[in-house]
Amino acid sequence: MTLAPGLLAVFAHPDDEAFGVAGVLARAVEAGARVTVVCATRGEVGEISDLALASAETLGAVREGELRAACRELGVEEVYFLGYRDSGMAGTPENDDPRCLHRADPDEVVARLVRLVRELRPHVVITFEPGGGYGHPDHVAVSRHTTVAFDLAGDPRALAEAGPPHRPARLYYTAIPRGLLRELAERARAAGLEVGPFRDQDLDRLGVPDREITAAVDVSPWLDKKRRALAAHATQVGPNDPLHLLPDEWRDRLLGREHFVLARGEGGEAARDDLLAGLGNSDPARQ
Ligand SMILES: [Zn+2]
Repeated sequence: MTLAPGLLAVFAHPDDEAFGVAGVLARAVEAGARVTVVCATRGEVGEISDLALASAETLGAVREGELRAACRELGVEEVYFLGYRDSGMAGTPENDDPRCLHRADPDEVVARLVRLVRELRPHVVITFEPGGGYGHPDHVAVSRHTTVAFDLAGDPRALAEAGPPHRPARLYYTAIPRGLLRELAERARAAGLEVGPFRDQDLDRLGVPDREITAAVDVSPWLDKKRRALAAHATQVGPNDPLHLLPDEWRDRLLGREHFVLARGEGGEAARDDLLAGLGNSDPARQ
C-alpha cells in the first residue's frame, strides 16, 4: 500500500497561491498527492479591479469564492481560511484593526497552524520566503508563523493539546529570483513598457538572490490550469493587470517556472525540480 504524499500550502490572501505555486499544486494533485491550501485572511482590503464584481463590504466573501474557484481549477479540494482580517499594506490604518493578522497573537496563529499540520500530516509545507515577496505585513507574518509551526509540530513537548506530533519532511519558501525580475524590468524598460510592479520597486531588494534558490520547477505542462486559476481571481487580476501587459513569451516564462528555497529538511538532487521527490512512498509503519 502506498501512502499518498501530502502537501500543505499556507498563504495570506486569495491569489497569493496563484502566481508562485499554482503549477506545483496542480502537478501534485495529478501525482496523487493530498493538497491543502490554507489562507490566513480573505483579502478584504485590497484594491478591486472591477467595481461591478464586489464592494468594500462584499470583497472578503467574493475573494473567498475566487480562491475556492481557483483551487478547483487546480484540482485542490481542501481549502481552509483562518479568518483573520487582511492587514493592508504597511503603514495603512488597516494595520491597526484588532481583527487583522498583523495584530493577532502570534502564539494563537502558530497553535492553529500546528493543529492543522498535526491533523493533515503533510510531507511538504510551502509558504512565503521571510521577506514575503515584497514585504506585505501579512506575507511576512504568515512566513514567520508557518516556520515556527513547522518546527513545533514535530516537537512532542510542544502544544500537547494540538494532537500527536508530526514533523513534515520539508519546508519550502516561494521565491522569485532577483535576476529574473531584474531582467524582466530591463527588457520592459527597453521596450518602453510601463509595467507596474517594476516601476516603483527597488530591484536590489525585490525577490530573492539567485544563489539562494534551491528548487526551480518547470510547470509549463500545467500552464493552462495556472492561467485559469489566475483568472479566477477576477477582483485582483483585471484587464489592466501588469501580467496582461507583458508580451506572451515573457509572461509564459514568468509563469512557467516556480522557484523555491528549501528552508528545512533534506532535498537532494531530485528535489531541485520536484518538491515531493522521494516522499510518500510505501511505508507500512505510517499507514
Ligand atoms: Zn498577498
